Amino acid sequence: MIISDEERTDVILLVDDEPSNIQVLNKAVSSLGKVYFATSGEEALRLAREVLPDLVLMDIQMPGIDGFDACTAIKTDPKLQDTNVIFVSAHIDTEHQLRAIQCGGIDFLHKPVNTILAEAQVRTHLTLGRQQRELKVARSTLQNVIDHLPAFVAYWNEDLINVFSNDVEGKWLSVSSAHMQGSSFSSVTRNSTSLSQAAHEQLNLAVEQSRSGVTQVLELTLNSTSSAILFAAASVVPTLIEGKFSGIVLLLHDVTPLRVIQNDLRKEKELFALTLSSIGDGVIVTNLEGDITFLNPIAELLTGWARRDALNQTIETVMPLVDASGRKKLINPLRIALSERRVVGASLNAKLIRRTGEMVEVEDTAAPIKDANNELQGGIIVFHDVTEAREMAQRMSHIASHDALTNLPNRILLQDRSERALENAKRKNEKVAMLVVDIDQFKTINDSVGHSVGDQLLKSIAKRLVDSARGADTVSRHGGDEFIVLVPELTNWDNAVAYVTRLMQQFTTPIWIDSQRFDLTCSVGISIYPDDCSDTESLYRHADGAMYRAKELGRNRWHFFSKDIETQVMKRHGLEQYLRRALVENLFQIYYQAKIDTRTGAVVGVEALIRLKDEKGKMISPAEFIPLAEDNGLIIPIGRVVMELASRDALKWQDMGFNHTVSINISTVQFNDERFVDDVRELFDDLSLKPELIEFEITEGAIAKNTVRTKEILESLKGLGLSISIDDFGTGYSSLSYLKRFPIDVLKIDQSFVGDMLSNLSDEAIVDAIISLGRSLNMQLVAEGVETEAQVRALSAKGCHIVQGFYYCRPIPYSEMCVYLAKGTHKKGDPL
Ligand code: C2E
Ligand code: CA
Ligand code: CA
Repeated sequence: MIISDEERTDVILLVDDEPSNIQVLNKAVSSLGKVYFATSGEEALRLAREVLPDLVLMDIQMPGIDGFDACTAIKTDPKLQDTNVIFVSAHIDTEHQLRAIQCGGIDFLHKPVNTILAEAQVRTHLTLGRQQRELKVARSTLQNVIDHLPAFVAYWNEDLINVFSNDVEGKWLSVSSAHMQGSSFSSVTRNSTSLSQAAHEQLNLAVEQSRSGVTQVLELTLNSTSSAILFAAASVVPTLIEGKFSGIVLLLHDVTPLRVIQNDLRKEKELFALTLSSIGDGVIVTNLEGDITFLNPIAELLTGWARRDALNQTIETVMPLVDASGRKKLINPLRIALSERRVVGASLNAKLIRRTGEMVEVEDTAAPIKDANNELQGGIIVFHDVTEAREMAQRMSHIASHDALTNLPNRILLQDRSERALENAKRKNEKVAMLVVDIDQFKTINDSVGHSVGDQLLKSIAKRLVDSARGADTVSRHGGDEFIVLVPELTNWDNAVAYVTRLMQQFTTPIWIDSQRFDLTCSVGISIYPDDCSDTESLYRHADGAMYRAKELGRNRWHFFSKDIETQVMKRHGLEQYLRRALVENLFQIYYQAKIDTRTGAVVGVEALIRLKDEKGKMISPAEFIPLAEDNGLIIPIGRVVMELASRDALKWQDMGFNHTVSINISTVQFNDERFVDDVRELFDDLSLKPELIEFEITEGAIAKNTVRTKEILESLKGLGLSISIDDFGTGYSSLSYLKRFPIDVLKIDQSFVGDMLSNLSDEAIVDAIISLGRSLNMQLVAEGVETEAQVRALSAKGCHIVQGFYYCRPIPYSEMCVYLAKGTHKKGDPL
């Protein structure tokens, strides 16, 4: 059982051969502890070994073993080391005192004993003894702790003489504590085999500096051969007493494992950096935020950013990427690697904008950096300059796909483009033309002038062919004097004809080489997809065949593969030429067809219809030439002619006192022409014509397109005072909502409905619907193509009273219309 010091009762042993003395002593100390008695030195020793007293009050003069001998025996007994002895004696002279101290006594009590004084004296000694024991325990605990400290602790006094060290074996400084004790600081450090000269100097300097009262901290490298301690953190702690330097404590602790790890890490990092620095690719490492933490010299070179400027910048700042065009910014793959935590492969055609602004084509790969626990730590991007490689690849592919002499695409590229053009055309319902162009009698010329001039000729021919082409066209050379032109995205054959016409035109100018004149001609064969065939191979064969046909027919001409196309194209081509001529020579005429109010028989309006006779005087139908004029744009000048002629006639009728309207047909192309409204305004300004008498007939197709603009145009026309009529109403596909939004005056029921109205129920239903629609919107209704009386009656019954058609009046020239108008009312079919 452990008894704490407070609880423990002190044990007191009273020794005297005189029992009366013991009685007196007992009286004095009995309250202070447990008291034992002995009346001889022998008994005292025996009892002391048994009860282990804290304090012995010992008589000196006793028979047998006297007090001094008994004390000596107690003090030499290890079990009784802590036992204090006080001598009790009547004679206390110097000799006695000296002997008492020599044998280990601590105090004297005088006989006769004063009990009060004795009690106080014994109490003090018991207390002191207790404190002494406590101190001993504390000290041994401390010693124990220090001995087992995984550190070196040593103390040097103010004269720097070692007082203490906990390094019993000398594993720290190769000096055991025993050897160290009494040695000066500098001799210990100088003689320590663990310390280098430098370390010795460092430590002694630290000691000097610590005299100011400040703890010095330093790190030592130990050249220890025997122990595993290689690196130690040292603290030189000055101890101060009342502010005065009184010595130093040297503390060392082992930092070897830490340093070893740090060293390994540093080495690894250096190796890593060295590796990244010596590879040929640019490498940039970022943290989680995409801020740069490392870049290697190649990355510095490629980005134009020095490392010190680049660090901590975002990846986008240092490595901005754009697409091949150089305009569209690209997301840096590193961002994707960070956000999606995956490796991002090379982006195609990326360009890096360098700090200087120039662009470098790069190929890059980015990856996330994860630690052992798969936690994202940052990202890395590796990239290299592929400008040269890409240029080389481009050059190679250019060489492979182009003709060396003219630099035109060759057969391979043409093949590829043709295939794509056909696919596109199929999807978009367009046509593709292939033209085989062969220079007439080139072989003869070439043989006579030599190849170098021949080559120059071919080059300038190539240039002329290219000059005739549009952007989408491909002009290619297939060796010799054969050129093939691919004309994609055609809506009809005219574009091909336009190209070949321009081309032939080019050949009318002579080519000059070294002041030698060459008048060349060519023969061209044309084949059209999908009219002639459905694949590129046959397209070429057909065009080639057509080219031979052109040669057979006498060269310097073009020829279509298909006879049908050929005739149609020739016809259209001829017609186009004729329309141009008609414009110049004023061959267009206007016929008029009356609109009759069936209730009164009065002419309420006339429709102007264009007429053109061919060279032989035969009428060409507007249904034939208007669509062509719309395709080639001639409708604009033609439309202007119609407007002018009709307006002049209208003016004349107005002057004669007629007040019927004159309707003019406006083509969609005309309506959508930017200058249209201005043209109309100018015309009416020139003539002092009442615009209320003019009506424009527009098809649904024209106004269904662009509603905002359409509304503006229609309102401007209305603003001029014109009426608006929807021609061929019911045949368009548009929604009817425009009728409410746009200022429309008249609906013309298409002649197809009128024609079949009496035989076909659904046509009749449509006519009914149009009539009720027109009425509810408060629009005038005109029925077109009325040919019979039955139709007139039926329309009247339904409430449509204005009709136009052969039943009353065919289209007739101005002069005849004047006669017709003079008749006033018209009940029956046209008498003319
Ligand atoms: P449209 O505007 O629907 O003109 C009416 C067409 O029907 C005229 O043909 C006219 O001759 C014909 N027609 C009139 N009454 C009857 C009838 O009772 N029975 C039959 N079967 N047909 C009748 P045309 O003159 O040949 O004109 C054809 C189309 O050409 C016109 O159709 C119009 O779209 C266009 N057109 C005519 N002249 C011009 C013009 O000056 N400018 C524009 N842009 N187009 C015009
Ligand atoms: Ca019309
Ligand atoms: Ca019509």
